[in-house]
Amino acid sequence: MSVTHAPQTADVLARQDPELAEILLGELDRQASTLQLIAAENFCSPAVLAALGSPLANKYAEGYPGARHHGGCEIVDVAERLAVERAKCLFGAEHANVQAHSGSSAVLAAYAALLRPGDTVLALGLPYGGHLTHGSPANFSGRWFDFVPYGVDAETGIIDQEQVRTLARTHRPKAIVCGSIAYPRHIDYAFFREVADEVGAYLIADAAHPIGLVAGGAAPSPVPYADIVCATTHKVLRGPRGGMILCGSELAERVDRAVFPFTQGGAQMHTIAAKAVAFGEAATPEFAAYTRQVVANARVLAAALAQEGCVVTTGGTDTHLVTADPAPLGVDGRTARGRLAAAGIVLDCCALPHADSRGLRLGTAAVTTQGMAEKEMTRIAALLAGVVRGTAEGARAREEVRDLVDGFPPYPG
Ligand SMILES: *Cc1c(COP(=O)(O)O)cnc(C)c1O
Repeated sequence: MSVTHAPQTADVLARQDPELAEILLGELDRQASTLQLIAAENFCSPAVLAALGSPLANKYAEGYPGARHHGGCEIVDVAERLAVERAKCLFGAEHANVQAHSGSSAVLAAYAALLRPGDTVLALGLPYGGHLTHGSPANFSGRWFDFVPYGVDAETGIIDQEQVRTLARTHRPKAIVCGSIAYPRHIDYAFFREVADEVGAYLIADAAHPIGLVAGGAAPSPVPYADIVCATTHKVLRGPRGGMILCGSELAERVDRAVFPFTQGGAQMHTIAAKAVAFGEAATPEFAAYTRQVVANARVLAAALAQEGCVVTTGGTDTHLVTADPAPLGVDGRTARGRLAAAGIVLDCCALPHADSRGLRLGTAAVTTQGMAEKEMTRIAALLAGVVRGTAEGARAREEVRDLVDGFPPYPG
């Protein structure tokens, strides 16, 4: 719910439920007064927030446009058709399902569409940046499927293509998953397609992170190569929290049935409307320029962190995402994250390929939405390194962060 951009809503809430209104304002203040470097986060637009806070939230709509299990869906049907058309057009896909509640739900549906419990699946191992849904024993994926992990080259941090090919030939998986929560480089979808074809496997691209860059033309598209593309709408794409699935017409019906009725119930029409708004925004030249800036910023941030002494995984980035080992600055990722949080610099820890200690994972999607550019990235790297080393005095660093973000309000006015 937008507190800043829906003053009436904010007033209503303040009168009706001051306790909760205060919590919302507190979170808005936290987002605006600290530095948001979590790679999976962004600031969606006031228009997206308006759709999310709209009365479409009231509507039950099980099924698909024109074939619903509830009455009164004429209007929301138009909203969902619009979201689907915009997604197809934006990504050049034959089919789009916009009902998946989240990235994980999209992956669940992709597996449900193509696999049976017990099938073998090849995916990037969790220590190298695989997602929970790529075979974690704590997740349905690890329990219901037989995951074989591939990794990255110990020296370069780049996906080990020889290993992918060998494992595929040995295990003959039913599906190969490419996609990651922490891999900073472009994924070679043509390579994965070739291996999948050789062993008769489906190719599932889990493009939850880079799909926004794909929309803006700043990263290669998995759509021409993968049988199914899973994605989120809330990361670089800057839409509402949610999932999306793209595929060819031949899998359309299986994918749709895998979402509803197999794994989900009623569609969230307010979120689908907000997805339509985000797809509309992502189709503009301004968004394309935004994605180019996101990558330019990440490259500068990676170089500046390396300059400060961090070991940047793969030596840099092609995307919005940077992972780095702060060990040369004297602490591991977990300690670094704590110190940074105290200074108002918000980011994640991540596993490091072939290291026992944790690293740091940063992204430039949110700060770029705020209008920050190369100059600010250098300043962020210096601030971050000072805090991690413990040379920057705590209160002073917090003041500097405040000074930086004050110039870039996420929701001006
Ligand atoms: C973010 C992400 C997901 C999960 O998305 P949620 O909306 O958090 O469920 C799945 N796969 C990858 C690769 C991701 O980056």
